Amino acid sequence: MQIPRFWRQIPNRYNLIGVQCENCKKVYFPPRIVCPDCHRLSIGKMKQYKLSDKGVVHSYTVIYEPAEGFENQVPYIMAIIQLEDGPRITAQIVDCNPEEVKIGSRVEMVFRRLGEDGKAGIIYYGYKFALVKTQT
Ligand SMILES: [Zn+2]
Repeated sequence: MQIPRFWRQIPNRYNLIGVQCENCKKVYFPPRIVCPDCHRLSIGKMKQYKLSDKGVVHSYTVIYEPAEGFENQVPYIMAIIQLEDGPRITAQIVDCNPEEVKIGSRVEMVFRRLGEDGKAGIIYYGYKFALVKTQT
């Protein structure tokens, strides 16, 4: 799986802020200026929207060759997470072993200090995801 290039700026580090099109109610993250479905009808109608911090793993990959600054973290897990509100985002999954992650696993957002992760890549934005522990 190819990891896409990551958006670099998040207006609020402690919430996932996307936008909702007031015309069709779809939610986007990262934020867009125009709704790709509504085009002109959405101009001026894209409102900030605080996304749910919960979702499920849509797909994931285990990284064995670290980016610079991540040498002591491999292997680490990058996942595409389907949020409850609809958008998919790419994030690291922490606090578990790669074999614990499954497609469909429930995850929730957690925050980590940015400083301990160096400056490269994904970890930049301050949020990661952890598996939701189910009580069985
Ligand atoms: Zn729309």
